[in-house]
Amino acid sequence: MDIHLYNTDGRESQIFKPLQNGEVGMYCCGPTVYNYAHIGNMRPYTIQDILKRTFTYFGYNVSHVMNITDVGHLTDDGDEGEDKMIKAAREKGMSVWDIARFFEEAFWKDLERLNISRPTVSCRATDHIGDMIDMIRTLEEKGYTYISGGNVYFDTSRFPEYGKMALLDRQELREGARVGVDDNKRNYSDFVLWFTNSKFENQAMVWDSPWGRGYPGWHIECSAMSSRYLGKHFDIHCGGIDHIPVHHTNEIAQSEAANGCKWVNYWIHNEFILMKTGKMSKSKGNFLTVQSLVDEGYDALDYRYLLLGGHYRSQLVFSWESLDAARSARESLVRKVKALAGEGQAAAALAGKAREYLASFEEHLVDDLNTPRCLADIWSLLKDRDLTSPDKLALIYRMDGILGLRLEESAAQEEEAPSIGGDIEALIEERNRARGEKNFSRSDEIRDELLARGIRIIDTPQGTTWEKV
Ligand code: AMP
Ligand code: ZN
Repeated sequence: MDIHLYNTDGRESQIFKPLQNGEVGMYCCGPTVYNYAHIGNMRPYTIQDILKRTFTYFGYNVSHVMNITDVGHLTDDGDEGEDKMIKAAREKGMSVWDIARFFEEAFWKDLERLNISRPTVSCRATDHIGDMIDMIRTLEEKGYTYISGGNVYFDTSRFPEYGKMALLDRQELREGARVGVDDNKRNYSDFVLWFTNSKFENQAMVWDSPWGRGYPGWHIECSAMSSRYLGKHFDIHCGGIDHIPVHHTNEIAQSEAANGCKWVNYWIHNEFILMKTGKMSKSKGNFLTVQSLVDEGYDALDYRYLLLGGHYRSQLVFSWESLDAARSARESLVRKVKALAGEGQAAAALAGKAREYLASFEEHLVDDLNTPRCLADIWSLLKDRDLTSPDKLALIYRMDGILGLRLEESAAQEEEAPSIGGDIEALIEERNRARGEKNFSRSDEIRDELLARGIRIIDTPQGTTWEKV
């Protein structure tokens, strides 16, 4: 089956054609481990997981490579700002190395909770400084670099295709590069490949290099590591749309300049998750983590469901109400799967109408990963009286192999008290108190809050009880 993907390079949906039959090489920009990843960061990793599962489902062998940015790069996307890792280390009183390992572990834990499979290769920037130095040396030999103010720069004027994927014009280049005052640059869009002259005192992570003791620029790590694990030309590169104008633009320039060939065939970019108050930002501190959702009593998979309910190329505004709705829907799905499983085994083979449902699901999937339609397929088949329970179960298990909501596993678990973030009884007590004080707005609020979480309150002459909706 043809897989259609929207390629940022060309701005159109294209049929995926692998470089090697049956193989997919896929590089995804990974986390900067100086803080917890926020829930916005989890969108690319979730959709990349869906993409990988899709390829695997259709018989491809996927090499999925992700970097771990443990060299503190700068606070801004450009080359300005304070070193992120040092800032975090100072705030937490740990060494920069400890900081990096600590947050890397937290990142893997988040992925696990969201049922995102680990990459085939995850590579730390600090383990690949030699590869980066080699690539910078090649760029130097080919005449793409200059040294200024103690740092090695990539000269973007030597690469005529600079900014082509990002469709940058001269004006956008000015804005896109977000260059502050750096008199050492020859062109607005030039960027640092190797720093020996750090703006920061007490630079903790430094290495020897042909240009002196220092550390690599951020962009070079993805070029060097992707080439090491996937070769000089590979199929897919993923990341959030914020990376289009600077990071990915610079990655392309230095990779193609160094390798002397086309680098990546398909660029897959996800749109942003926003907060009602605007952009989620680690540096501004207004962000939520997977742990903070769990602390509020949600299952991380509620958030996965929420993400799948929107197309990855549309912006999605996070709200607690939408997370509540996702939780209700996911829990309801689990209950339905549990009921179906109680009726017997999943069908061993699919035929007739069941096959039509699977075909519809697959069509939606290969239509640039249209997960909202895929979820809708599950809800429609559940309602279909023409399907038998074993058919429904078989279809759902198969579809969930892609969606990754752990439906079978969740349904097999012992029934637990619903996760509602705090104790139901305590909330009911608070409601009773509010009613006693004639604070009806608070008592209604608690009733609605519980209802949104799938709990209906029942007032009886004997007292208040509750039931699952
Ligand atoms: P970072 O750790 O900042 O390099 O970001 C890791 C990944 O998350 C990158 O692919 C970013 O493009 C992506 N990203 C950052 N913020 C958001 C957001 N609010 N919504 C969706 N993706 C994001
Ligand atoms: Zn990258």
